[in-house]
Amino acid sequence: MLATRNAHKVSEIARLLEGSGVECATLDAFPGAPEVAEDRPTIEGNAEKKALETARAVGAWALADDTGLEVEALGGAPGVISARWAGPGCSYADNCAKLLREMSGVPSARRAAALRTVMALASPDGLVARVEGRLDGRIGEAGRGAGGFGYDPVFVLPDGRTLAELSSDEKNALGHRGRALRALLPELKALTSIGTA
Ligand code: IMP
Repeated sequence: MLATRNAHKVSEIARLLEGSGVECATLDAFPGAPEVAEDRPTIEGNAEKKALETARAVGAWALADDTGLEVEALGGAPGVISARWAGPGCSYADNCAKLLREMSGVPSARRAAALRTVMALASPDGLVARVEGRLDGRIGEAGRGAGGFGYDPVFVLPDGRTLAELSSDEKNALGHRGRALRALLPELKALTSIGTA
């Protein structure tokens, strides 16, 4: 069970699991499952909470992902509040616009940033595993690219492309979420092989 209703995350994770032998339903199959409030002070805490509460609500193993953008020049912000940084109900575009505003005038040497995904795997009885995937880059001067989601258009890789300029397979191969999921695959495969996933 994938503890998210975010269609972008579902498609990235489903693609990453292709060919692994691991099959995962999503929360769409459980319309009655409660929306888990992401109210913990850390990305780790939110990932664990989402995995545990979902596993308990649906009575199955649950995999949850929480991601944050950490910008050095902003003291690690937006971090755990990445989704709602520009205010309640804000869009991805609102968040990117706020980031470009906050970073305006910051020289390129001081624009380092990282996207960090923490994935947690839980059974209804408790947390089973937690892994992290990290991607280092920098914040661009303007948004570029139409792929991906979230802060992808303003997140620049060492080769100069933004994450939104990559194909979805390229993003999965080098991105933070792919790194986290690959670290968790041995655990997921072990569960599948004993028929409990
Ligand atoms: P969440 O709390 O894990 O759903 O993610 C928090 C926020 O981080 C999202 O609303 C996006 O703005 C951003 N985010 C999550 N994943 C990505 C990604 O792969 N690229 C860029 N931004 C992302």
